[in-house]
Amino acid sequence: MSKKKAAKPAPKKAAKAAKAASSNNKSLLVENRVFKPSAEFSKKARISSMAQYKKMHEESLKHPDKFFGREAKELNWSKPFTKVLDWKCPNAKWFVGGKLNVSENCLDRHLEGPRKTKAALIWEGEPGEKRVLTYQQLHREVCRFANVLKRNKVKKGDRVIIYMPMIPEAAIAMLACTRIGAMHSVIFGGFSAESIKDRVLDCGAKIIVTADGGYRRGAVVPLKKNVDDALKGGDTPVETVIVHRRTGQDVHIEEGRDVWWHRELEYVDANCAAVAMDSESPLFILYTSGSTGKPKGILHTTGGYLLHAQMTCKYVFDLRDDDVYWCTADIGWVTGHTYMVYGPLALGATSLMFEGAPNWPENDRFWKIIEEYAVTVFYTAPTAIRSFMKWGDEWLKKHDLSSLRLLGTVGEPINPEAWMWYHNKVGGGKCPIVDTWWQTETGGHMLTPLPGATPTKPGTATLPFFGVDAAIVDDLGKEVGVNEQGKLVIRKPWPSMLRGIWGDKKRYQDAYWSDFKGWYFAGDGARRDKDGNFWIIGRIDDVLNVAGHRLGTAEVESALISHPSVAESAVVGRPDEMKGQGVVCFVTVKEGITANRELADELKKHVRKVIGPVATPDEIRFAAALPKTRSGKIMRRLLKQIAAGELIKGDTTTLEDINVIAQLAASSGED
Ligand code: ATP
Ligand code: MG
Repeated sequence: MSKKKAAKPAPKKAAKAAKAASSNNKSLLVENRVFKPSAEFSKKARISSMAQYKKMHEESLKHPDKFFGREAKELNWSKPFTKVLDWKCPNAKWFVGGKLNVSENCLDRHLEGPRKTKAALIWEGEPGEKRVLTYQQLHREVCRFANVLKRNKVKKGDRVIIYMPMIPEAAIAMLACTRIGAMHSVIFGGFSAESIKDRVLDCGAKIIVTADGGYRRGAVVPLKKNVDDALKGGDTPVETVIVHRRTGQDVHIEEGRDVWWHRELEYVDANCAAVAMDSESPLFILYTSGSTGKPKGILHTTGGYLLHAQMTCKYVFDLRDDDVYWCTADIGWVTGHTYMVYGPLALGATSLMFEGAPNWPENDRFWKIIEEYAVTVFYTAPTAIRSFMKWGDEWLKKHDLSSLRLLGTVGEPINPEAWMWYHNKVGGGKCPIVDTWWQTETGGHMLTPLPGATPTKPGTATLPFFGVDAAIVDDLGKEVGVNEQGKLVIRKPWPSMLRGIWGDKKRYQDAYWSDFKGWYFAGDGARRDKDGNFWIIGRIDDVLNVAGHRLGTAEVESALISHPSVAESAVVGRPDEMKGQGVVCFVTVKEGITANRELADELKKHVRKVIGPVATPDEIRFAAALPKTRSGKIMRRLLKQIAAGELIKGDTTTLEDINVIAQLAASSGED
């Protein structure tokens, strides 16, 4: 594998380690490159050594009352809590008796000092418009829109659907809901009418906040029309639709149901008291990405969620007043909720929001933004990083990225090759990378390096965050040995854990708390190396069993990506009479590479060399694109059906491009 090459600009010690790794045929199972934070970075960081991390982590598990009681004091409580945790599996109550308001914590409390006039949100629209909202301005807009919601009969506990483009009004609508104690459920702007209807019915929303349209790669997305289609037939509980004017296109306005955002503002003032909410009051419902099946309506509550969001921004991103922080996730995903809106604003940071795609109008749009706003902390997904690699380095070279000091990733395991590229090409070899493992259900980071303390290795999310008691166990709940694969479980409740699946107590219990008594399990497989680092190897349902050997999808995919011709890959098992399962690899190649039988043979040999004979692919299928969810995750369950020659079954509504499936099914294989 090309590890030697990738490790070139790395520190001397790491290069030596890389050499050792590349001579080891088990390779990805033994990633030896270690990147320690620089002394300069550590000196300035809030957590600056492993000793400090360990001490705090231990305290957080042994004395959660003390640890979280202290951390929670950094939030503004209108009524103090009397008890930190009340836990009766699977029901957790954090900060019992306490009252607080999320919008008050994200806005009002920053207005007393110099943050009042600091940028809270920096926004750039796809066509290039720019807007900055200071804390004071954002506060005013949130109060006004909260009054609009009240005017439209939204009450505490009501569900408000937000289906908007990536514009400040999306964040304003979310914060306005929290101000009056309504729950929001944000639906990604790329979803169809059908997906909207499913979610409206599932959560029983009376109101939808949307826009006439949004921009995506130069085209206009007909958001309002999708809402109209979803509500056709009148068999939903929706009574009101508030429409923000974004694109100015003509839209249908249904008398008695639809109102314009800007017209409504004419009737309200900018005074709106924040309602003191119980710590356990429902805050929002968010549907999961649907990688493994029908999306689940995950319920989060107020105090614990906000604390974890703030704490992780403080310790993981180590955000400071002079940072310009950019999370590229869409607001429709949990990452957009916790790490674009709630976490950074609770901490009083500056959060950048960008409406468009990374390759519009050209492949360097992200780098242009980083340069222009002097972004210091950048948080994106492996799927984006793999696209950047595919497009080539020349796009980066045009821009000065020297403002960056810290990088992060989330969403999927990051392949070591992609990690190295991110580290060297984007971070200039000097920025720590925080590879954060978490889920919609967990509300915030669970496994992650702390950038001033944790030595990182390409491809591992390293160690548990404070309060997180993670372990890898076999089916009986016994901890497995070093480098052995098992199920990743969390053995203690944590503040931002989900409190349920909306309207389905039984599914909540069955999905997360039934495999192991008293422990949380949400489907991922992992292993731990000798230093205790956690390596996510993929969904447990996707793990391959080849001739009695368990192979993680992430490992085979990383081996393929380490070949210079491969841009992206997805590996699935296919029933095989002899071996139990055969290994089928779907591969997209880099620009300018010809996909033919020779390359397929070469890739088979490559995987064999990198991982070992057991992983040798039975079939390489070249594809123009892989099926992904709208949040960019590969949908392996569909590929499994294609590999087995079956018809596609199950929910495909969260698929990004349905045509990809038809193309893949039509393609016959290796040439
Ligand atoms: P569904 O539950 O509906 O199938 P989903 O699991 O894709 O959808 P999310 O909650 O958005 O929905 O994704 C969480 C999952 O993403 C994790 O369970 C894990 O598989 C993967 N993941 C997230 N971050 C990382 C990471 N840093 N490393 C490895 N895997 C990650
Ligand atoms: Mg999931």
